[in-house]
Amino acid sequence: MHESAHELRRLFVEFFRARGHREVPSSPLIPVGDATLLFTTAGMVQFKPLYGAANPEFTRAVSVQKCLRATDIDQIGHTIRHHTFLEMLGNFSFGDYFKTEAINWAWEFVRTVVQLDRDRIWVSVHDSDDEAARLWETETDLLPGRVVRLGDKDNFWGPAGSTGACGPSSELYWDLGAAADPGGREGALGESDRYLEFWNLVFPQFNQDADGRRMPLARPGIDTGMGLERLALIVQGAPSTYETDLLRPLVDDVLEFASLAAMPDDERRVAVRIVADHVRALAFAIAAGVVPGNEGRGYVIRRVLRRAARRGRELGAPSPFLYRIAETVIRHYGATYPELEGMKEAILRITQFEEERFARTLDAGMERFQAIVAECQACGATELPGADVFQLHDAYGFPVDLTAEMASEQGLTIDRPGFETAMTEQRQRARRAHRFHEVAAEGAGEPWVELSDGPDSEFRGYETLTLEATVRRYRETTAGIEVVLDETPFYAESGGQVGDQGALEGEGFQIQVTDTVTAVSDHDGAPAKSHVHRGRFLSGGPADLARSRVVARVDPELRAATMRNHTATHLLHAALRSVLGTHVQQAGSLVAPHRLRFDFTHFAAVTPGERTAIEELVNREILKNTPVDVRTQSYDEARSRGAIALFGEKYGREVRTIGIPGFSLELCGGTHCRGTGDIGLFKIVAESAVGAGMRRLEAVTGLGALALTMELEGRLDELGQILGVPRGQVADRIRAVLKENAELKLKAKGAAGGGVEKQVEEALARAENTDGHRFVVARIEVDSVDLLRRAGDHLRDHLRSGAGVLAAVMGGKVSFLAVATDDVIASGVRADELVREVAAVAGGSGGGKPHQAMGSGGKAVELIDSALDRGRAILRERLGVGAKP
Ligand code: ATP
Ligand code: MG
Repeated sequence: MHESAHELRRLFVEFFRARGHREVPSSPLIPVGDATLLFTTAGMVQFKPLYGAANPEFTRAVSVQKCLRATDIDQIGHTIRHHTFLEMLGNFSFGDYFKTEAINWAWEFVRTVVQLDRDRIWVSVHDSDDEAARLWETETDLLPGRVVRLGDKDNFWGPAGSTGACGPSSELYWDLGAAADPGGREGALGESDRYLEFWNLVFPQFNQDADGRRMPLARPGIDTGMGLERLALIVQGAPSTYETDLLRPLVDDVLEFASLAAMPDDERRVAVRIVADHVRALAFAIAAGVVPGNEGRGYVIRRVLRRAARRGRELGAPSPFLYRIAETVIRHYGATYPELEGMKEAILRITQFEEERFARTLDAGMERFQAIVAECQACGATELPGADVFQLHDAYGFPVDLTAEMASEQGLTIDRPGFETAMTEQRQRARRAHRFHEVAAEGAGEPWVELSDGPDSEFRGYETLTLEATVRRYRETTAGIEVVLDETPFYAESGGQVGDQGALEGEGFQIQVTDTVTAVSDHDGAPAKSHVHRGRFLSGGPADLARSRVVARVDPELRAATMRNHTATHLLHAALRSVLGTHVQQAGSLVAPHRLRFDFTHFAAVTPGERTAIEELVNREILKNTPVDVRTQSYDEARSRGAIALFGEKYGREVRTIGIPGFSLELCGGTHCRGTGDIGLFKIVAESAVGAGMRRLEAVTGLGALALTMELEGRLDELGQILGVPRGQVADRIRAVLKENAELKLKAKGAAGGGVEKQVEEALARAENTDGHRFVVARIEVDSVDLLRRAGDHLRDHLRSGAGVLAAVMGGKVSFLAVATDDVIASGVRADELVREVAAVAGGSGGGKPHQAMGSGGKAVELIDSALDRGRAILRERLGVGAKP
């Protein structure tokens, strides 16, 4: 048998489907609604709730699950069998069949479907599990003496995450032959590299609760996992998983990029494997919505990328190049996992961007690292000091594990506790700064004064804006007063929506509420969330609070404005996904009465065209005046209706969804309009970058949008008045004035100008220096193309190393000329490309040779400065610090 991996997936699923298993698609790489896990690590993760459930919807399942195991990262490349990303084949029983069927079917699959050689199969069972041992010996024709009993370490399975099903297991091993571990003992399963574990049959018999207690499950189940890569290794007779048809194309691709630089073979092999494995994991993780970052999933992914980038550099591959391997991953896996195709652009751009960013700090960091190592070695130390490791982390972006790895390659260790201390100190410094800010803003508080007993802060603000309430407690702060009520219509800041403002009134007092926030209180011993109304007395004082009930009144106009912005935020989110692509993920938002702000993952600036499309789409939905559908239901129900949830957010069992039928469905606790028409008008006011692969849009709605248009009109009228023309002619008039101005400047300069050579030398004197190159961007006065060429020759002769752009106006037309010296051409800066980009700014075009090229901008004399600015920006970037040498 020599089945392809694709065929193996199919054979496995078919085998178990024929035995009554429901085929369940892989769940996302990021577990849904399970905050205990960063990534899906096994097939059973999505089925956790079904173990021990009274009435599961189905009791047998088969799946091919995408998994990511960050904990195995250090093994990658050094073993023949580990990957960060892997596909796990699994069959599952939820209170249905148990050990007998699991063992029989596993045996049948390996012996008759993929026809593995019986002589090479070994099996382990837990040392307490006589039942499993007996089943292998009596139900199958496994060779005698092939069942090995092992302890808890190898054959007892704790729950995935910290709670859930667990129990003993039985593993199938493949004998790779004595040569795989010459000194190894026969039958040393789980110990010797001679025996490759490929299928783990887990028998969940217990449930572990949050305190670590194990209770027997009334209905035990089955949970198996077989790595597709390992099965392919065995079936295809490959020396390692990297030679299977799953990874071979990636490995070959990496080798294409590697130079033949002298490097021991085994090191080269490790490096190539790491790159191939890591880029595959990266592509799948980005497709699942993870963006490299400093915490949690983002950190894992950043570390994976940086490890791969560093190995790429060792291999002498050009930088950046990982994104090109990612392209191969997408091509190779796209048919099986269409999400890769769907997220192609995000995968490539994010990978390239991160890689370039890392390359810029890597050189500086490596130098520092080597200096630290040299210092250590000089004084005979074997451990890198924690403070230095922290500096590499903090200033050079070296993940601590990367530093540890590089240190161990030099035979050194790192002072991890010292690093942690430095890290904690920095965090405390940041927190102290934060706390100070809070104290300064809000003032220190007196102790709380309790006025009445019972539950507090029952939120009624979805239905009403005014109600009569009882004060539970209050406290005075230097900023004013804070009050907690038994029930309240005031929304407390959360989920991006700001807290309500309004008034609390009673006999003899009036409080203006300027903000409402949540505070975790431990009233009656149980933690609960309280709505704290912050404000100040307009009349009366704290003593009056005890006298009567209070009327709590939310400012209706501000609240209505906030609701418009919140519903508009949902419309915007859906519009972004529709216009820019489904890679758009919400990264943060602010919903206030006067504006809304939305941060999201996207790898490029939103173009004016896209911006218009987004505004149009949102406003169309507003005009439809669709009723907003607010519901409360179970989390699973909401997910199955397709609600957008935020990664990493935890939800209780019951969730609230906000639906705009046919357009948007989100989990959200905020306050919303009754119909989209209430929003009135939606206008984007700003677009900007807020980090790697992250953009921000700001927008206004309702009266805010009206105010914006009125302000814009006012400005237009003012311009018309200054220029003495009606509104409609403002642009033409400005163009004419600018042109006139440009011509006048030119004349003035021409009168003072000298010979061509002199002008070039003056420009050279003002050349910018970057990284040993010089570049010149200047406007000169010449009256013929020949003279412009002569200027170009002179410039190129005197630049030594660098590039330049010259512009001149001749007969009312703009001409550009660009030059580049041979060494910068070799690193990719070409005069013809340069001149084309510069001329394009003035609406023209150009071309020529890599070392010298000409372009024309037509009559757009007024754009000459913008065109030169563009030239300057390009040269700064391409020749600048951090650019490729
Ligand atoms: P190992 O000891 O080899 O790391 P494991 O005990 O961690 O394996 P399980 O957690 O039992 O493996 O996972 C079930 C199956 O998934 C394994 O039998 C193997 O086929 C596969 N598998 C586990 N980890 C990896 C990995 N990092 N890369 C590829 N396949 C894996
Ligand atoms: Mg493992």
